[in-house]
Amino acid sequence: RRIMFTNTAAEALFGRQKKGPSNKIFEFPLDGGKTTEIEINPPSREKTIAEMSVVEISWEGQPAYLASLRDITKRKKMEEALRVSEEKFSKAFRHSPESFVISGIEDGTIVEANDTFMRVSGFGKEIIGKKSIEAGMWAKPEERAEVIKILKEKGMISNLERRLRLKNGETGISLFSAEIITINDTPYMISMTTDITERKKMEEKLRFSDTALNSIREGVFAMDKDFNITRWNEICEQMFGVKAADSIGKPVGDIITMVEDYPGQNEARMKVLIEKGFNREEQLYRTPRGEIWVDVHAQGIEENGVHYGWVTLVSDITERKKTEEELRFSHAAFRSIHESIIATDTQYVITHWNEISEKTYGIKAAEAIGKKLRDIIEIEENLPGENDRRFERLETDGYCRQEQLHRTKYGEVWVDVSMQAIEENGKRYGWVILASAITQRKLAEEALKRSEEKYRELIDTSSDGIISTDSQMRFVVWNRGAEKLLGYTEKEMLGESIMIIVPEQSRKEVARELIRSKQQEPGKVISQIFETQGQRKDCSQVPIEVSISTRKSEDKYFITAIMRDITVRKEAEEKLRKIDRMKSEFLSNVSHELRTPLQSISGFTKLIMNGQVPDPATQQEFFQIIDRETQHLGSLINGLLDLSRLESGRFQINRRPTALREAMIDTIKSFQTLARDKNITLNEEIPDALPEMDVDDERMRQVFFNLVSNAIKYSDAGGSVTVRAKGLPGELLFQVSDHGIGMSPEAMKHLFERFYRVEENPARSGTGLGLYITKQIIDAHEGRIWVESKVNQGSTFSFTLPYHGKGGNGHGKKNINHRRRPSDIKAR
Ligand code: ADP
Repeated sequence: RRIMFTNTAAEALFGRQKKGPSNKIFEFPLDGGKTTEIEINPPSREKTIAEMSVVEISWEGQPAYLASLRDITKRKKMEEALRVSEEKFSKAFRHSPESFVISGIEDGTIVEANDTFMRVSGFGKEIIGKKSIEAGMWAKPEERAEVIKILKEKGMISNLERRLRLKNGETGISLFSAEIITINDTPYMISMTTDITERKKMEEKLRFSDTALNSIREGVFAMDKDFNITRWNEICEQMFGVKAADSIGKPVGDIITMVEDYPGQNEARMKVLIEKGFNREEQLYRTPRGEIWVDVHAQGIEENGVHYGWVTLVSDITERKKTEEELRFSHAAFRSIHESIIATDTQYVITHWNEISEKTYGIKAAEAIGKKLRDIIEIEENLPGENDRRFERLETDGYCRQEQLHRTKYGEVWVDVSMQAIEENGKRYGWVILASAITQRKLAEEALKRSEEKYRELIDTSSDGIISTDSQMRFVVWNRGAEKLLGYTEKEMLGESIMIIVPEQSRKEVARELIRSKQQEPGKVISQIFETQGQRKDCSQVPIEVSISTRKSEDKYFITAIMRDITVRKEAEEKLRKIDRMKSEFLSNVSHELRTPLQSISGFTKLIMNGQVPDPATQQEFFQIIDRETQHLGSLINGLLDLSRLESGRFQINRRPTALREAMIDTIKSFQTLARDKNITLNEEIPDALPEMDVDDERMRQVFFNLVSNAIKYSDAGGSVTVRAKGLPGELLFQVSDHGIGMSPEAMKHLFERFYRVEENPARSGTGLGLYITKQIIDAHEGRIWVESKVNQGSTFSFTLPYHGKGGNGHGKKNINHRRRPSDIKAR
């Protein structure tokens, strides 16, 4: 048994270095060709296990053994591991808390099942050797075929839910896992099942509690029997604004208050709930999120006669309540609208036609509904195509309101129409049309318009100022007459306060008057006529007569006034008054003027008659005085006669060619004595060749007489009076100048009026007729008369007579020019 030969593999196995024969004896069993296992412990190496088979051979003529060895260390180790693991598996298999069953793949014969399985399923040892389906282990036998199919395809199954039946016939739910194992070349299925029936039940419950609870789109909360909250779903969180975490465990009353319609209602509610075990009601809840209307459905939780608590379903019906409220309102509103209401879809097909529409248009709802609006109602057009434009605009605006004349086959009706699009979230659903018949009103309006136009015309054409105000005292009417009178246009004045035309000085009084009139009784019209001043736009004032009527109705107050310019009347009145005054002055003056010469005439006449004046020279002198006074009287009476002629329009002039120079010189001569007496110088500047004029000689003499007489009368001693005449282009100018007392500009204005006398000098007698008559004479000759005067400096009375070259024309002019002086030009 010495080693004669080893090959490389054997040398590796034994850890030998040299080849060839060895003296070492190799001990091995001689089993006659059988395979044995040997342990080789080569130096410095791990123990090796080899499988060896020995055969007898002949080696170099000698009998020998050939041992062939195979290293099976690895396999051995694996086998050992397997054995250990199998032991473990077996132990696990037996004692696992899960159920294990090993069964034949094809027929399902159970070959092994562990204790857990036996205990859980209730099947005993007798199950071994039986087929699982026959034993009734599968609640649904087709599930087994499915399992086998998956197994064959994938080699394993894990955690499939299967329904397995227990021995007592109950079906449990198990998690089923399986694998194929091969025992003695036969494939088996080893399956592990975990009973999850309980867990499933729990899960089911759990799912209901959370998922289900939250999947209900209504609020659900549960309470124990003392009404402490135990469950609170998400909807409740949203609905009441309280998190589950903040509500669970608290008394429901802390979170929600049921609003009572009457005191004690909540108590009654609880009583009903407890007695009946449920309650359903619409309640108003006061919650942290505010007041919410809810449909409440509370139900007691009871099992086997034990009351556990309450579950409450709540749905938010606030919106519905609101809508209901709105509906109630709109229903009431709808009924109370005494207007035609028509609804259409977007194509104007009528969908709604109320009773009033039937009355308005005479068309029954049944006839109207379903028809196009424009097919049964024709809207009158002012212009062709207007309706198309109307509807186009309506489409874009979504709204319109108009007064329209609607024509149906039954007639015409004026309506106030408003059309409104029905829209929500930007989508248009149709139209609602409200129409109220206004035919009566329209007719009345038209009549009113016509009458208004008439009045308007009347007002506009009136020359009187017609105004009217509203209760705020602002103008609403201002006619053209008012514009003419006060200068403001209608445009300027409408809306302006009445005070604008009241002058400053009367504003307070007018305001007081207005307040007083405002307190008058309603319905009464008060009319007044008075004279006042109106203030013009240019701030000047104009005397007006106002006929005003104030009217009060309810709380409104109106004024209408007619204003008339009374400037002319006022002036005329003023003049009349003045003339009246002057007339009475005149009368007293005239009596004085008449008496004075009469007294001296009768006085001197008596003296001579009684022979008291024997001296012929003195007698002569007295006769002259009597003669002068008689003339004076005569002239006075002539003046009075002239006045009466002038007043009665019988005043006439008799023109004939007259040498005016002669008349002037005569006049001057007749005043010589008087002038001398008064120590006044009389001058003349009259051209010798003053042409003859076609005038009334008598009257012209009267003019000169008057002017010279005044000049002397209103001059003091030492003064001088000049009478002159000169030719000017187209006319002759005559002047009488003095250096007397003169007069004020005011006096100059009125000088030529009848009876006018300057009041400051009443001492100088007169009647105020002289200059008036003088002017009338000059006017009658188409001449002009005027005065230039300064107080205490003197006066110059000038008058012209038109001269058309009649008689002595030409050289007279030359003479006139010769005598002309610069001051004359100035005076002219
Ligand atoms: P009478 O009879 O008063 O003179 P007249 O008509 O002649 O009436 O004159 C009117 C008034 O005019 C006079 O009262 C006088 O005051 C004023 N008057 C007329 N002439 C003159 C004058 N030359 N100088 C100043 N005052 C005059």
